[in-house]
Amino acid sequence: MSEQNTNTASPKKFSDLGLSDSILGVLESIGYETPSPIQEQCITHLLNGEDIIGQAQTGTGKTAAFALPLLDNIDLSLNAPQLLILAPTRELAIQVSEAVQTYARGMKGFHVLPIYGGQSYDIQLRPLKRGVHCVVGTPGRVMDHIKKGTLKLDKLKSFVLDEADEMLKMGFIDDIKWVMERIPEQRQIALFSATMPSVIKRVAEEFLNKPKVVKVKTKTETATNIEQKYCLVGGLSQKLDALTRILEVIEFDAMIIFARTKTLTVELAEKLAARGFTAEAINGDIQQSQREKIINKFKKGSIDILVATDVAARGLDVPRISHVVNYDIPQDAETYVHRIGRTGRAGRSGEAILFVSHRERRMLNNIERVTRQKITPIELPTAKIINEKRVNDFKKKITETISNRDLSVFEKLVGEFQEANEEVTHIKIAAALAHIAQGNEPLFLSEKEPSFGRDQKPGEEKIVPVQANSLKNNPQIPMRRYKVAVGNNNNIKPGNILGAIANEADMDSEFIGSIQIFDNFSTVDLPDEMPKETFEVLKKTIVNGNRLNIEALTEENNKATVGGSNQGKRNFGRKKFSKDSRGGYKGSKDGGRGDSRGKGNRDDRGNRKPKFSRSKPKK
Ligand code: ADP
Ligand code: MG
Repeated sequence: MSEQNTNTASPKKFSDLGLSDSILGVLESIGYETPSPIQEQCITHLLNGEDIIGQAQTGTGKTAAFALPLLDNIDLSLNAPQLLILAPTRELAIQVSEAVQTYARGMKGFHVLPIYGGQSYDIQLRPLKRGVHCVVGTPGRVMDHIKKGTLKLDKLKSFVLDEADEMLKMGFIDDIKWVMERIPEQRQIALFSATMPSVIKRVAEEFLNKPKVVKVKTKTETATNIEQKYCLVGGLSQKLDALTRILEVIEFDAMIIFARTKTLTVELAEKLAARGFTAEAINGDIQQSQREKIINKFKKGSIDILVATDVAARGLDVPRISHVVNYDIPQDAETYVHRIGRTGRAGRSGEAILFVSHRERRMLNNIERVTRQKITPIELPTAKIINEKRVNDFKKKITETISNRDLSVFEKLVGEFQEANEEVTHIKIAAALAHIAQGNEPLFLSEKEPSFGRDQKPGEEKIVPVQANSLKNNPQIPMRRYKVAVGNNNNIKPGNILGAIANEADMDSEFIGSIQIFDNFSTVDLPDEMPKETFEVLKKTIVNGNRLNIEALTEENNKATVGGSNQGKRNFGRKKFSKDSRGGYKGSKDGGRGDSRGKGNRDDRGNRKPKFSRSKPKK
């Protein structure tokens, strides 16, 4: 075994490693800027057909390290398993399979299949028969399929053992060997493991052919003079709000904010600038000379916030950085350590704040495990706290201005005003001036708004269009969009609303249009000329124990939250339900000429008219 030199001089780019344009295109589109160390050191060897032993911690990007080159070696015209990946658990098999699917996005006709215990053989058999290029499986199930002859390995080019030490711990070592004895002689093997117990080493010696050994040490020592905190936040819009709140209450000297992509750094810097902060972005697209200018301004204090990608901030040494904000969670623990190391320099103390979404908790645990340090949860400052701060700042500013500024011009003016308006009190005058100084921006945040503390599932905000869709089969009927006071938070399905309206208000379901479910409410499109009685019935109608409280959707009440439903699954309010006409409405035959609007109840042409009620609404 030959040891790799892990000290590469300058960071390489993905395009330096020999990957195909198709793979490079995918990496660009998913926002991977640079290869992680394990990727940088494995990809070229694997592309060349060499065997690899890779040792690196979880979260260092091992999946792409083997998947990218091995996918590139696949012959798409050959409809047989060419890449087999063993993973210790069903979850990991699925996760790796999904990653492979993503990385292979540019490969037309490519198929990957996860196989694991607990899933019926039938589901796995069909794709296997049809032909897949890559199989990701747990050892036991892969063994079963090989025994049954349903997984044929004669065309296999490469084999990956992912998380080998984990498999050993789980007692899979004999299964692994069994499988490895059955793969073709002429194949390539990559073995990845976080640690190298002797059993794994022996397996490697027995099966691998002159493997390159790549060992990535994680630099995970974090300085103790940096206070580490994290904050649970929801989607994009909430992150920005969370950030501005934090910026408002903390005392910071200079801050660096890490964002995942180049585009994000620019957007974020612009938004912060619009909120009155001196912020600039630095990323890999910004020219060296420009970058230096920005960093100089940052050093000298004419910029207080730098929004950066990991690459752009590499090696940055600015002692006045008091705060690091991980706006987007880093891809691995090592990156985290690098990032927060931008503060607490030259013996000073620093603070690092990490934003974590619910889906990213695993990464948070990973960082804590690898760095062996607890990151303290913090709550976002509430509107109340912010408002108190604003009051204090306001008072402080008055005191400061009185003691530090020359006010003679204004004193004279105010004096004149007072003489001419004796009835106006001093307080009134001062308040009017404060109002002028404040401008149109309200001094206080609304304290009624939902806060998104640690235990609340935050959702993103969405403005729902108030315009109703027309009915597919009765497009001539004027429709209106209504709001009902139930949504995902009440476990409502479109069928519940449809059923309630159809049954309780006795409305023919063909006149019930689009139904959209959001977390805090739902909308339903109904005929504009709905009889008042029907409307009254609908107000009182109860669905899943909640009153519908139907009302028209307006520009004032159309702010929905999505993505924070309590159903445990993601739902971004895309759940739409359009009720198609069963064709019973004869009025639709007039080809849209129907001028039924407002005349429905007066017309006597019987069933050629829209009839919203099957019978009189219940009283
Ligand atoms: P490991 O197998 O080492 O635990 P993964 O392959 O699961 O790590 O990768 C961890 C995370 O890092 C994933 O979310 C992945 O999408 C991301 N990632 C991997 N490589 C890169 C990269 N070069 N740039 C940005 N993100 C990356
Ligand atoms: Mg992995």
